[in-house]
Amino acid sequence: MELLDGQRIAQQLRQKLAENVKAFKNHTGITPFMGIITVGDDPASKIYVKKKVQAAAEVGINSLVFQTELNTLAYDLQRFNHVPKIHGYILQLPLPDKVDPTNYFDFISPLKDVDVFHPENVGFLVQHRPRFKPCTPHAIQLLLRAYEISVSGKRVVIINRSNVVGKPLSSMLIQECDDYANATVTICHDRTPPAVLKNIILESDIVIVAVGKPNFLTADMVREGQIVVDVGVSRINTPEGKTKIVGDTDFENVAKVVRAITPSVGGVGPLTVTCLLQNVLQAANLQV
Ligand code: NAP
Repeated sequence: MELLDGQRIAQQLRQKLAENVKAFKNHTGITPFMGIITVGDDPASKIYVKKKVQAAAEVGINSLVFQTELNTLAYDLQRFNHVPKIHGYILQLPLPDKVDPTNYFDFISPLKDVDVFHPENVGFLVQHRPRFKPCTPHAIQLLLRAYEISVSGKRVVIINRSNVVGKPLSSMLIQECDDYANATVTICHDRTPPAVLKNIILESDIVIVAVGKPNFLTADMVREGQIVVDVGVSRINTPEGKTKIVGDTDFENVAKVVRAITPSVGGVGPLTVTCLLQNVLQAANLQV
């Protein structure tokens, strides 16, 4: 079994990104700048925001975190569009009280939309001419590329249909592009009957699971030779009275069966942040 070490790949890519940021600064005299708009008090979001700010600083990108309320969110998003020093910004999700963020995406300037949710950028992506590549799908593609796991001509199942993972990833993996696209993709979700889901998973060469439920993918659902990319992130209580982060797979047992798998922590996550920062530099390039 091969461990798909996203942390290691992210580290390599961040070194390269830091060089590119430095070259941009030398050329323009301007430091790329990322904004993060947060609403509410979600503890997991606070950790993610801190990680993004730290990672930005490591590669030489400046950042600003701005806390707001739902009733002024639309106004603040538009305000950020008019701050020249902010090249790209994100709305940290989830919003409180399970508010659907979709309508708010319309307020983000497409040129600053580094999380790639504005309909214009989603349209570019679907037409396979992306302005920015969506962070988590791009992270998954980069991980597969780093381990030379071709998806071309392969069957890929994505267990997720969200705007963050399933929809953009399926679009990227079916592109007529290179070895890391040209796949035959099936999307599964909550309404996929469990028996159908199990069959589709067993028929697939590559299984991408992003459900957010610990131990969702168990050893009886996979077979030898498969690649498993676990995107899920959940916090669980340990018998010692602490908490820990886990993915969607029963890692210990699934890892005994498959050809390659991401670790519970340090798989797609670190690469997702790297891809976000790459988009901030890209946004700065587009605006300067
Ligand atoms: P989401 O919108 O809640 O998506 C979860 C998906 O799982 C939905 O499509 C849902 O189907 C599907 N699902 C739920 N129960 C299922 C079941 N029993 N059988 C089949 N499908 C089922 O969340 P998200 O924003 O896409 O994130 C998904 C997970 O990935 C979360 O754990 C999140 O923390 C993690 N994540 C990680 C990264 C990273 O960089 N590592 C980035 C983004 C997200 P329905 O659509 O029918 O509800």
